[in-house]
Amino acid sequence: MINESNGSSMLSIPELPESQSPRGGTLYIVATPIGNLMDITLRAIGILRGVDVIAAEDTRHTGQLLAHFQIKTPLVSCHDFNESSRADSLLERLRKGESVALASDAGTPSISDPGYKLVRRAALSGVPVVPVPGPSAAMTALCASGLATDSFVFLGFLSRKKRRHREQLEEMKNERKTMILYESPHRLADLLEHLIEVLGDREAVVARELTKFHEEFIRGNLSFILTELSGRGPIKGEITVLVSGAEEVPASMEDILEEIKAGLAAGSCSASSLSKEMARKHKVSRQLIYQEILRMVGKTDG
Ligand code: SAM
Repeated sequence: MINESNGSSMLSIPELPESQSPRGGTLYIVATPIGNLMDITLRAIGILRGVDVIAAEDTRHTGQLLAHFQIKTPLVSCHDFNESSRADSLLERLRKGESVALASDAGTPSISDPGYKLVRRAALSGVPVVPVPGPSAAMTALCASGLATDSFVFLGFLSRKKRRHREQLEEMKNERKTMILYESPHRLADLLEHLIEVLGDREAVVARELTKFHEEFIRGNLSFILTELSGRGPIKGEITVLVSGAEEVPASMEDILEEIKAGLAAGSCSASSLSKEMARKHKVSRQLIYQEILRMVGKTDG
């Protein structure tokens, strides 16, 4: 519904039904667009409009969003540097029966954004916490990436401390699920190089400027993406990186025999059930495993 009568596009936004209006003493976690303002939900607008106060990561930034949708609710700041002390005053207001919405600069609050401490304290002190879902860069990138979506891990920003950064990369090496990372544009090339060094030249996707005019997905192996981006000069815009999980490497017969030996030494199951379990796990013939077990326990000289 777009009303262009005064020359500017004005949305006529339906009111929230009474049953869904903000309730006193409740903390709402409100997702906001990650670029395209039209991605805000009707419910988010209704909640932001109806609460007593909005706790925003950056009041100026959220103020612009509110102005766009003609929302006049008062704002207070709640960012990384004041979250603990701000949580005290917000919890006090919640206990007195006010309704509070938490909004970050973009996307879902508390996902690589402030909010976790406030949500935890509210939940532990019995204050109802109600999510108002909407955009998040991680899910937006994943669903269009073309990488496996059946299971994935969200890693957010890797540490900037060299040692921890390296450890995190090492931890990623054997991860079988698709991995989702956030990174700033000027660190992207370094991150891609580190990923190649530690994980190998995996299939990956760089999702840039999601939901915005210059949205793009760069797909290919990490080295291809790195070469592609290096040819462009300074990388700009917001970046989400997705890396495919490690492939399943079939165990060698040697490893399987070692595992059988350990299973026999533990003595916790019969030769028959051990051969069944090993055959299922390693997708090899149960008969073959059974013969090996008999050979190991000296019941056959095959
Ligand atoms: N809470 C947000 C969410 O739910 O996605 C994430 C906040 S985090 C501080 C910001 C990072 O998210 C950016 O540095 C970038 O890695 C990623 N991001 C946010 N908007 C994006 C966009 N439009 N396109 C690609 N990545 C984006």
